[in-house]
Amino acid sequence: MKYVAVGIICLGLAAWGGIANRHAIIIDLLSTGAPPQLNPATDEGTDTVWFDDYFTIQSLDAQTFAIGEPRYAQQNYSYLIVGSQRAVLFDAGPGFRNIRKVAESLTELPITFVPSHFHYDHTGNEITFDRVAVVDLPYIRARAVDDRLILNVSEHLGSAEGVAAPTLNINEWLAPGSIMYLGERQLQVLYTPGHTEDSISLLDLSSGLLFSGDFIYPGPLYAFLSNSNMGDYLAGAETVMNHEATVTAIYGAHRVRPPGAPKLGLNDVKDLRTALNNIRAGNAKASGLYPREYKVNERLVLLAEPEFLQDWQPSGKELNELNN
Ligand SMILES: [Zn+2]
Repeated sequence: MKYVAVGIICLGLAAWGGIANRHAIIIDLLSTGAPPQLNPATDEGTDTVWFDDYFTIQSLDAQTFAIGEPRYAQQNYSYLIVGSQRAVLFDAGPGFRNIRKVAESLTELPITFVPSHFHYDHTGNEITFDRVAVVDLPYIRARAVDDRLILNVSEHLGSAEGVAAPTLNINEWLAPGSIMYLGERQLQVLYTPGHTEDSISLLDLSSGLLFSGDFIYPGPLYAFLSNSNMGDYLAGAETVMNHEATVTAIYGAHRVRPPGAPKLGLNDVKDLRTALNNIRAGNAKASGLYPREYKVNERLVLLAEPEFLQDWQPSGKELNELNN
């Protein structure tokens, strides 16, 4: 019911403010502009420990850690992936608390922060890192004078919770399809846009773990935001499926409920690809007005714009090809 009411208001305002401004209007309507209240601590089962009263740590294997923020409204999970020479922190949460000290408690190796994308609940914001690596896309590189990237409002969306956009000092550019060498561990950078144009996933080539950011996680997937694109989402799903021989499990950046880190399998990506193909062909059922809600499977719902606003022309077509 809430969605119907919001949908009517959003569509009315979108018409009034102009279709081109709909994302800004909708984000303002859905946001409070202030940080949310913390939820009570959760029962996370036996293989997760509380680092303090806010962060949790779950060992996925001896050198891979899910760092959870289960009390934050969006229940973020970031991943510390440790090699023999350096470590990667994939996402940094909303910066509600300082995730850096959690990561540094788990390894003495130098840590490179890699955002899965530039939304405020992944970039850590006021937290600073010694090393930062981001996706190498022409439009992003062109903006980064002296490797300093000022995130813009529509790719950061921090106004939703009153968070100012950070400036990232970039040490390393990650070309789609390239490999990050962490010593004996290798992570392949998969360009998986759709949720946003700047979204990447990291694939651990030896364990087959895929860290997918907001591209896919159990729960509602947001494909109606300012730089979402349905054609990109389908291309991203194809890219992951091109690595089906390698992928053993998928860890996303949000979950709906406890316990533990949000885990999916390759079948979920396959179902997402099927759903996207059905939506494009006009064969998918949806509920709600704005966003339209497409059920993918028992774990996934895709939230998209109404059919007449869906964009199926991939924005990163050439990069999608580079990936494969
Ligand atoms: Zn996001």
